[in-house]
Amino acid sequence: MLKLNEIETRYGKIVALRNISMEVHEGEIVALLGMNGAGKSTTLKTISGLIRPKAGTVEFMGRSIESVPPEEIVRQGLIHVPEGRKIFPGLTVRENLVIGATSRKIAMSTVNQEIEEVLEVFPDLTPLLDRLGWSLSGGQQQMCAVGRGLMARPKLLMLDEPSLGLAPVIVQNMFQAIRKINQKGTTVLLVEQNARQSLAISHRGYVLEAGSIVASDSAPSLLDGIQNAYLGAA
Ligand code: ATP
Repeated sequence: MLKLNEIETRYGKIVALRNISMEVHEGEIVALLGMNGAGKSTTLKTISGLIRPKAGTVEFMGRSIESVPPEEIVRQGLIHVPEGRKIFPGLTVRENLVIGATSRKIAMSTVNQEIEEVLEVFPDLTPLLDRLGWSLSGGQQQMCAVGRGLMARPKLLMLDEPSLGLAPVIVQNMFQAIRKINQKGTTVLLVEQNARQSLAISHRGYVLEAGSIVASDSAPSLLDGIQNAYLGAA
Protein backbone atom coordinates (compact mmCIF):
# COMPACT_ATOMS: atom_id res chain seq x y z
CA MET A 1 0.00 0.00 0.00
CA LEU A 2 2.80 2.43 0.99
CA LYS A 3 6.39 2.01 -0.10
CA LEU A 4 9.33 4.30 0.63
CA ASN A 5 12.41 3.62 -1.41
CA GLU A 6 15.78 5.07 -0.37
CA ILE A 7 14.36 8.37 0.87
CA GLU A 8 16.68 11.20 1.79
CA THR A 9 15.17 14.34 3.34
CA ARG A 10 17.11 17.45 4.33
CA TYR A 11 16.48 20.67 6.20
CA GLY A 12 18.94 22.91 4.35
CA LYS A 13 22.28 21.19 4.83
CA ILE A 14 21.07 18.97 7.68
CA VAL A 15 20.30 15.43 6.54
CA ALA A 16 17.23 14.40 8.60
CA LEU A 17 16.49 11.09 6.80
CA ARG A 18 19.09 8.90 5.19
CA ASN A 19 18.30 6.03 2.84
CA ILE A 20 14.90 5.20 4.37
CA SER A 21 13.15 2.22 2.79
CA MET A 22 9.99 0.88 4.40
CA GLU A 23 6.63 -0.62 3.52
CA VAL A 24 3.14 -0.67 4.98
CA HIS A 25 0.83 -3.40 3.71
CA GLU A 26 -2.94 -3.16 3.55
CA GLY A 27 -4.58 -4.15 6.86
CA GLU A 28 -1.49 -3.66 9.01
CA ILE A 29 -0.60 -1.49 11.96
CA VAL A 30 3.07 -0.59 11.50
CA ALA A 31 4.94 1.16 14.31
CA LEU A 32 7.69 3.66 13.53
CA LEU A 33 9.71 4.00 16.72
CA GLY A 34 12.60 6.15 17.85
CA MET A 35 13.81 8.75 20.31
CA ASN A 36 13.28 12.51 20.12
CA GLY A 37 14.82 13.87 16.95
CA ALA A 38 15.28 10.46 15.29
CA GLY A 39 13.31 11.61 12.24
CA LYS A 40 9.86 10.10 12.83
CA SER A 41 7.86 13.28 12.20
CA THR A 42 10.04 14.10 9.19
CA THR A 43 9.21 10.67 7.74
CA LEU A 44 5.46 11.34 8.04
CA LYS A 45 5.83 14.85 6.59
CA THR A 46 7.80 13.45 3.67
CA ILE A 47 5.06 10.87 3.01
CA SER A 48 2.20 13.39 3.20
CA GLY A 49 3.98 15.86 0.90
CA LEU A 50 4.62 18.59 3.50
CA ILE A 51 8.37 18.24 2.88
CA ARG A 52 9.85 17.01 -0.38
CA PRO A 53 12.59 14.39 -0.35
CA LYS A 54 15.95 15.21 -1.92
CA ALA A 55 16.18 11.66 -3.22
CA GLY A 56 14.14 8.46 -3.33
CA THR A 57 10.51 7.62 -4.06
CA VAL A 58 7.22 7.35 -2.15
CA GLU A 59 4.56 5.07 -3.62
CA PHE A 60 0.97 4.94 -2.37
CA MET A 61 -1.49 2.43 -3.83
CA GLY A 62 0.95 1.74 -6.67
CA ARG A 63 1.36 5.41 -7.66
CA SER A 64 4.31 7.66 -7.16
CA ILE A 65 3.33 10.57 -4.84
CA GLU A 66 6.59 12.33 -4.02
CA SER A 67 5.68 15.28 -6.24
CA VAL A 68 1.87 15.19 -5.80
CA PRO A 69 0.42 18.21 -3.86
CA PRO A 70 -0.47 17.42 -0.21
CA GLU A 71 -4.21 18.12 -0.71
CA GLU A 72 -4.30 15.61 -3.58
CA ILE A 73 -2.49 13.05 -1.40
CA VAL A 74 -5.30 13.57 1.16
CA ARG A 75 -7.90 12.96 -1.56
CA GLN A 76 -6.16 9.70 -2.43
CA GLY A 77 -6.89 8.53 1.14
CA LEU A 78 -3.58 9.11 2.90
CA ILE A 79 -4.31 11.06 6.10
CA HIS A 80 -1.75 12.50 8.51
CA VAL A 81 -2.76 13.38 12.08
CA PRO A 82 0.17 15.57 13.19
CA GLU A 83 1.79 15.69 16.60
CA GLY A 84 0.29 18.10 19.11
CA ARG A 85 -3.49 17.65 18.72
CA LYS A 86 -3.98 20.56 16.35
CA ILE A 87 -7.76 20.86 16.61
CA PHE A 88 -9.55 24.18 16.12
CA PRO A 89 -9.91 25.62 19.66
CA GLY A 90 -12.79 27.96 18.76
CA LEU A 91 -14.90 25.26 17.11
CA THR A 92 -16.97 22.56 18.77
CA VAL A 93 -16.01 18.89 18.67
CA ARG A 94 -18.78 18.30 16.10
CA GLU A 95 -17.48 21.14 13.90
CA ASN A 96 -13.93 19.84 14.16
CA LEU A 97 -15.15 16.42 13.01
CA VAL A 98 -17.17 17.90 10.12
CA ILE A 99 -14.04 19.72 8.90
CA GLY A 100 -12.33 16.35 8.58
CA ALA A 101 -14.87 15.37 5.92
CA THR A 102 -14.57 18.51 3.78
CA SER A 103 -12.04 17.06 1.33
CA ARG A 104 -14.89 14.81 0.10
CA LYS A 105 -18.12 16.16 -1.34
CA ILE A 106 -20.77 14.33 0.67
CA ALA A 107 -24.26 15.09 1.98
CA MET A 108 -24.72 16.29 5.58
CA SER A 109 -26.74 13.14 6.34
CA THR A 110 -23.69 11.05 5.40
CA VAL A 111 -21.47 13.29 7.53
CA ASN A 112 -23.77 12.74 10.52
CA GLN A 113 -23.72 9.00 9.96
CA GLU A 114 -19.92 9.05 9.83
CA ILE A 115 -19.77 11.09 13.06
CA GLU A 116 -21.73 8.23 14.65
CA GLU A 117 -19.04 5.81 13.43
CA VAL A 118 -16.30 7.97 14.99
CA LEU A 119 -18.27 7.92 18.25
CA GLU A 120 -18.26 4.11 18.15
CA VAL A 121 -14.45 4.30 18.29
CA PHE A 122 -14.36 7.22 20.78
CA PRO A 123 -17.57 6.96 22.86
CA ASP A 124 -16.10 9.47 25.34
CA LEU A 125 -16.62 12.20 22.70
CA THR A 126 -20.40 11.69 22.63
CA PRO A 127 -21.25 14.00 25.55
CA LEU A 128 -18.67 16.53 24.31
CA LEU A 129 -19.95 17.12 20.77
CA ASP A 130 -21.09 20.69 21.52
CA ARG A 131 -18.06 21.62 23.64
CA LEU A 132 -15.43 23.99 22.24
CA GLY A 133 -12.02 22.55 21.40
CA TRP A 134 -10.10 24.70 23.86
CA SER A 135 -12.15 23.45 26.81
CA LEU A 136 -11.22 19.79 26.30
CA SER A 137 -8.56 17.86 28.24
CA GLY A 138 -5.43 16.70 26.40
CA GLY A 139 -6.83 13.20 25.94
CA GLN A 140 -10.16 14.50 24.65
CA GLN A 141 -8.36 16.78 22.18
CA GLN A 142 -6.30 13.84 20.93
CA MET A 143 -9.47 11.76 20.43
CA CYS A 144 -10.99 14.67 18.53
CA ALA A 145 -7.86 15.02 16.36
CA VAL A 146 -7.81 11.31 15.47
CA GLY A 147 -11.60 11.37 14.97
CA ARG A 148 -11.20 14.27 12.53
CA GLY A 149 -8.64 12.18 10.64
CA LEU A 150 -11.13 9.31 10.47
CA MET A 151 -13.76 11.63 8.98
CA ALA A 152 -11.55 11.83 5.86
CA ARG A 153 -12.15 8.09 5.37
CA PRO A 154 -8.46 7.20 5.22
CA LYS A 155 -7.15 4.15 3.44
CA LEU A 156 -3.96 4.77 5.42
CA LEU A 157 -4.03 6.73 8.68
CA MET A 158 -0.70 8.11 9.90
CA LEU A 159 -0.67 9.07 13.57
CA ASP A 160 2.20 11.15 15.01
CA GLU A 161 2.69 10.36 18.71
CA PRO A 162 -0.98 10.04 19.68
CA SER A 163 -0.04 9.03 23.24
CA LEU A 164 2.30 11.97 23.90
CA GLY A 165 1.61 13.76 27.19
CA LEU A 166 -1.47 11.71 28.12
CA ALA A 167 -2.14 10.06 31.49
CA PRO A 168 -1.42 6.28 31.51
CA VAL A 169 -5.08 5.19 31.57
CA ILE A 170 -5.89 7.54 28.66
CA VAL A 171 -2.87 6.20 26.76
CA GLN A 172 -4.29 2.70 27.12
CA ASN A 173 -7.69 3.87 25.79
CA MET A 174 -5.98 5.55 22.85
CA PHE A 175 -4.07 2.38 21.88
CA GLN A 176 -7.26 0.31 22.17
CA ALA A 177 -9.05 2.81 19.93
CA ILE A 178 -6.24 2.54 17.34
CA ARG A 179 -6.58 -1.24 17.38
CA LYS A 180 -10.33 -0.87 16.84
CA ILE A 181 -9.80 1.57 13.93
CA ASN A 182 -7.53 -1.05 12.34
CA GLN A 183 -9.99 -3.89 12.98
CA LYS A 184 -12.67 -1.85 11.21
CA GLY A 185 -10.48 -1.88 8.10
CA THR A 186 -8.09 1.10 8.20
CA THR A 187 -4.36 0.56 7.75
CA VAL A 188 -2.30 2.49 10.32
CA LEU A 189 1.25 3.87 10.40
CA LEU A 190 1.87 4.71 14.05
CA VAL A 191 4.74 6.98 15.07
CA GLU A 192 5.57 6.57 18.76
CA GLN A 193 8.23 6.88 21.41
CA ASN A 194 6.19 4.50 23.54
CA ALA A 195 7.67 1.33 22.04
CA ARG A 196 6.15 -1.32 24.28
CA GLN A 197 2.54 -0.23 24.04
CA SER A 198 2.65 0.55 20.35
CA LEU A 199 4.30 -2.79 19.50
CA ALA A 200 1.65 -4.55 21.60
CA ILE A 201 -0.99 -3.46 19.05
CA SER A 202 1.19 -3.48 15.90
CA HIS A 203 1.96 -6.18 13.35
CA ARG A 204 5.44 -4.94 12.45
CA GLY A 205 7.76 -2.13 13.37
CA TYR A 206 10.75 -0.06 12.26
CA VAL A 207 13.23 1.64 14.58
CA LEU A 208 14.74 4.97 13.52
CA GLU A 209 17.97 6.31 14.95
CA ALA A 210 19.55 9.58 13.78
CA GLY A 211 17.64 9.48 10.49
CA SER A 212 18.36 5.85 9.59
CA ILE A 213 16.42 2.63 10.07
CA VAL A 214 18.42 0.48 12.48
CA ALA A 215 15.92 -2.37 12.96
CA SER A 216 12.80 -3.72 11.30
CA ASP A 217 10.94 -6.85 12.32
CA SER A 218 7.64 -8.33 13.44
CA ALA A 219 6.22 -6.61 16.51
CA PRO A 220 6.76 -9.64 18.82
CA SER A 221 10.44 -9.93 17.77
CA LEU A 222 11.05 -6.22 18.32
CA LEU A 223 9.35 -6.49 21.72
CA ASP A 224 11.64 -9.42 22.62
CA GLY A 225 14.62 -7.33 21.57
CA ILE A 226 13.57 -4.48 23.84
CA GLN A 227 12.99 -6.88 26.73
CA ASN A 228 16.44 -8.47 26.26
CA ALA A 229 18.13 -5.08 26.00
CA TYR A 230 16.59 -4.08 29.34
CA LEU A 231 17.55 -7.41 30.97
CA GLY A 232 21.07 -7.14 29.55
CA ALA A 233 21.43 -3.66 30.98
CA ALA A 234 20.15 -4.71 34.42
P1 ATP B 1 10.16 14.35 17.85
O1 ATP B 1 9.52 13.25 18.56
O2 ATP B 1 10.94 15.27 18.75
O3 ATP B 1 9.28 15.09 16.88
P2 ATP B 1 11.24 13.02 15.58
O4 ATP B 1 11.81 11.65 15.63
O5 ATP B 1 9.89 13.17 15.03
O6 ATP B 1 11.31 13.65 17.00
P3 ATP B 1 12.01 14.98 13.66
O7 ATP B 1 11.12 16.04 14.21
O8 ATP B 1 11.62 14.30 12.42
O9 ATP B 1 12.29 13.89 14.77
O10 ATP B 1 13.46 15.62 13.51
C1 ATP B 1 14.57 14.94 12.87
C2 ATP B 1 15.79 15.83 12.82
O11 ATP B 1 15.53 16.95 11.97
C3 ATP B 1 16.18 16.43 14.17
O12 ATP B 1 17.57 16.47 14.23
C4 ATP B 1 15.59 17.82 14.14
O13 ATP B 1 16.35 18.70 14.92
C5 ATP B 1 15.69 18.17 12.66
N1 ATP B 1 14.61 19.08 12.23
C6 ATP B 1 13.28 18.85 12.36
N2 ATP B 1 12.56 19.87 11.85
C7 ATP B 1 13.46 20.77 11.40
C8 ATP B 1 13.37 22.05 10.75
N3 ATP B 1 12.18 22.59 10.47
N4 ATP B 1 14.52 22.67 10.44
C9 ATP B 1 15.72 22.13 10.71
N5 ATP B 1 15.89 20.95 11.32
C10 ATP B 1 14.78 20.26 11.65
